[in-house]
Amino acid sequence: MTRHAIITGASRGIGRAIALGLAGRDYDLALNDIAAQDAALKQTAEEVRGLGRRCVTILGDVSKLDDCRGVAAEAVSGLGHVDVLVNNAGILRIAMIEDLTPEIWDQTMAVNGRGVFQMTQALLPHLKERRYGRIVNIASLAARTGGPGQSHYAASKSAVVGFTRVSSMEFGQYGITVNAVCPGIIVTEMGMNNLRDPERVAHFEKVTDLHRLGQPEDVVGPVAFFASDDSAFVTGQALNVDGGIFYS
Ligand code: NAP
Repeated sequence: MTRHAIITGASRGIGRAIALGLAGRDYDLALNDIAAQDAALKQTAEEVRGLGRRCVTILGDVSKLDDCRGVAAEAVSGLGHVDVLVNNAGILRIAMIEDLTPEIWDQTMAVNGRGVFQMTQALLPHLKERRYGRIVNIASLAARTGGPGQSHYAASKSAVVGFTRVSSMEFGQYGITVNAVCPGIIVTEMGMNNLRDPERVAHFEKVTDLHRLGQPEDVVGPVAFFASDDSAFVTGQALNVDGGIFYS
């Protein structure tokens, strides 16, 4: 049976990999990103259509409530209905606490934390009405062990894990499961900005059990599991997808 999913922040990186991965698993898709990523989003959508799936693109900023309502409404009208929401959009601006500004803090919370809440709330009436839903929130290993310069990011991703747990409690009665995936270090634009230099790449390859950094495709299987009926009795969980990172 073809399922329908919304993926936020889907133009590149992990979101793009999830889009292609779900397309290969019989999903029709509504892909979102901010207006600045319009061209890249259209490119990803073309790749999804190339796999034989229907795909609509919806520009919008998840930190804005009206945009989230628009994304949810356009996805439902464009696809007919929606089964799955993947809250993937996120930002990471590195700043040590002594240099951290209220603006960076607020922007990080607005996209990473409030964005997840607002997209979830916007789609909830539709999922409740259908008494079916799968919500997959992309948190981060930073919710467990953040690194220096990531205090605000770690706080925002811890918020996602907490929000996931309580969403599960509130939505279970409607047949909606809510789970989080916590990627480790994944080779995307964000991941490489975070690592910055070859020495840090070598360090993280060493402290990862699998002795390599993650690729965006490494995140797809766990997301697909939480999006599917294979995880019908799994909710409120947060799964590390990090190759086995040991922090000493
Ligand atoms: P990425 O390459 O930077 O892609 C994220 C996408 O989301 C970008 O296209 C970005 O656009 C978009 N986006 C940013 N703000 C948005 C907003 N307000 N509304 C809609 N879209 C927005 O990052 P990624 O590495 O694929 O990360 C995807 C998710 O995984 C994020 O939630 C991230 O925190 C999480 N994660 C990543 C890693 C990692 O190592 N890469 C590890 C753990 C968790 P702009 O670039 O124009 O802002």
